[in-house]
Amino acid sequence: MRHIRFLSEELGPRPAGSDVLEQGCDYVLEALQAAGYDNARKIRYELPNGKILANITATRAGRSDEEIVLAAHLDTVPNSPGANDDASGVAAILELAEILADAEPPRSVRFAVFKSEETLEDYDVHGFGSLQFIEALEPEAIEKIRAACWLDKIGAGPTLKVMHIEDTPAGLAKHLQTLARRRGMQPKLIAAKRWSEEMAFEDRGIPTAWIEYGPAPQLHQPEDDIANVEQEKLAAIGALVHDWILEEPAP
Ligand SMILES: [Zn+2]
Repeated sequence: MRHIRFLSEELGPRPAGSDVLEQGCDYVLEALQAAGYDNARKIRYELPNGKILANITATRAGRSDEEIVLAAHLDTVPNSPGANDDASGVAAILELAEILADAEPPRSVRFAVFKSEETLEDYDVHGFGSLQFIEALEPEAIEKIRAACWLDKIGAGPTLKVMHIEDTPAGLAKHLQTLARRRGMQPKLIAAKRWSEEMAFEDRGIPTAWIEYGPAPQLHQPEDDIANVEQEKLAAIGALVHDWILEEPAP
């Protein structure tokens, strides 16, 4: 909640390319460094309008060479403080990073916070930051990624959804559904239509799932503020993802 408060109240709307978004970026980077991640860094990229942005990434090394990615986005639409969409996901990533600071999980965990996932004005491009992130990785680095899980809008809304894109495998989403049920949650498994022509992880053959509560109240509105966010929901999703990170992967 502390991270959400800072991002949504102290900073407020954080559209791609804005100075406020850069302040948010520094905040996330410093939080990861404060949690002991010497490898926390920015990966620069260029928006279609020529502005330079940077995604943020840090990795907790695991016992094997395999890696899983936790993804969220820091940017918002121009008129919304984005407490639920998606300061909630960013906050969960920062909290998990802190909890895992001294852990050695079975697989490495890469925390990825993207900077331009909302539709870019004038370009009708969605998910631009995550595409730039994956395109900047070497083929060997992509090969190591065994799964990606998005945390986007996890703090408000009636129904827990675990989604996969309908023309990609459902395996990871089903697995997360099983883990959630073990914790007494009742997530809906949803095969979602693509909302972007190209999906960063899915289109590189990486098993990918999206966790959210929906329908998200006040989505993209000025009212998506911290009063909109329920701490219990964040805690439940955090615990679920923590279970997933620490489990031994199936051979
Ligand atoms: Zn979002």
